[in-house]
Amino acid sequence: MSAPNIETIVSLAKRRGFVFPSSEIYGGLGSAWDYGPLGVEICNNVKQAWWRWMVHERDDMEGIDSSIILNPLVWKYSGHEATFNDPFVDCRKCKSRFRADKLQEEYELTHPTEGTVIYGTGVVSFAADNKCPNCGASDWTPARYFNLMFETRIGATAAEKDEVDDVGESILGGRAYLRPETAQGIFINFLNVLTTMRRKVPFGIAQIGKSFRNEVTPGNFIFRTREFEQMEMEYFVRPGNDEKVHQEWIDYCFNWFASLGISASNLRLYEQPPEELAHYAKRTVDIHYRFFPEREEEERQWDELMGIANRTDFDLKAHSKKPEDAEGKRLNPDSTEDLSYFDEATKERYYPYVIEPAAGVNRTVLAVLMDAYSERTNDKGEKRVILKLHPVLAPIKVAVLPLAKNKPEIVGMAKAIKRSLQPVMRAVYDDTGGIGKLYARQDEIGTPFCVTIDHQSLEDEAVTVRDRDSWEQERVKVADLQQHLQQKLQAPVPSE
Ligand code: ATP
Repeated sequence: MSAPNIETIVSLAKRRGFVFPSSEIYGGLGSAWDYGPLGVEICNNVKQAWWRWMVHERDDMEGIDSSIILNPLVWKYSGHEATFNDPFVDCRKCKSRFRADKLQEEYELTHPTEGTVIYGTGVVSFAADNKCPNCGASDWTPARYFNLMFETRIGATAAEKDEVDDVGESILGGRAYLRPETAQGIFINFLNVLTTMRRKVPFGIAQIGKSFRNEVTPGNFIFRTREFEQMEMEYFVRPGNDEKVHQEWIDYCFNWFASLGISASNLRLYEQPPEELAHYAKRTVDIHYRFFPEREEEERQWDELMGIANRTDFDLKAHSKKPEDAEGKRLNPDSTEDLSYFDEATKERYYPYVIEPAAGVNRTVLAVLMDAYSERTNDKGEKRVILKLHPVLAPIKVAVLPLAKNKPEIVGMAKAIKRSLQPVMRAVYDDTGGIGKLYARQDEIGTPFCVTIDHQSLEDEAVTVRDRDSWEQERVKVADLQQHLQQKLQAPVPSE
């Protein structure tokens, strides 16, 4: 089972402290969200799981953490200034704004026999009889492009300066961008990492961090926001080995999501058709999650969780000082380095190809929450929500609950047990309700285990450990408790 729709998760997330609408006391800010006490834990757990899998458990990987604001020349030569655009259209009747390509996709799904309209780079073809999802009219403005990068200004004098003056240095006192992807921070550090870590191709550089895109139509909760977090890795390979390595990364990444307990029936691979490919990509395969199970048409239930692109040698070449055009003019007159690689073994110099698996932290959290959602009816016929999160991702690993909160010995023992567990796992103490209510609360936030201290515990030094998914209980000696829980928390979750 998974959540019937994103709305179910929105309400659970707000009710239980995962995610709140941002700036709510001032009326909110469209499609911005704040992560609450449980949300920050699950985000951190996703990032840690990715980092462990991507960096620590491999021999061919390094990590970095680059700046959010880079020299604007990075975005000039990466192609973002010229091409990081989305086409948008406005409904003349109700004034709503939509991404033309998304409406077009909708249109093609509902008019499959009419074939695909291909977008040119300057002019957008747009099926004008598309109906406005808001008011149903078909009265559109022409489609226009909009650059998604957030502009900002740097320095105390920035306010008086416009763009670049003729000294060059003023670029740094003028316009800059918040990065729209973490990848470029990796490319510009390629040589630094290669030389300081004495790496040889093939190897990869991973980074987790915030990215910003002035999305035309953010929405669907944390699925598409203007500020989000990415987990990206750039894997540098010898040209010619790129296709094989690309396929290997597609398989690894798919298996990683499955290893987080996401059901394989809610994951699929999507091969981007040529007209969808980014300007730098030779081939891109996306991992889709079934984010919209409520939609009748199967094809419309899926959307992107991760993209795995073969970026060729586009980026390293674009940031290098050497490549020249047909007339012998440098393609990048601003770069001071050549980012080619010298292969000692074959005595060859080349620009490595790059395989890029890029996932969103927030979309992963949404997929994980949706997939973990399940309902169960208890003996009294009451519906209970259980979040069957993989233990590695669960915000809280164990809740310690005293059966009688007015008995100081029981409360004292429960608090001591909680304190003994907290250096090794996220543990909480709760005595703010009857035991049934406390269990229900922990089930709903995905806590894998509850430990209950009762009168007998004072005599036999044992506690009851209750399992979230089966609701089964077992008696465990306090002396063995930590090891018992640690073993269970590391055990892989059984798939349904
Ligand atoms: P989309 O087509 O949905 O806009 P994209 O193909 O532009 O996404 P990429 O540039 O490949 O996305 O970024 C890699 C990952 O970053 C995506 O798979 C997604 O998980 C995440 N991501 C991208 N844009 C957003 C956003 N606006 N909000 C949340 N996550 C995002």
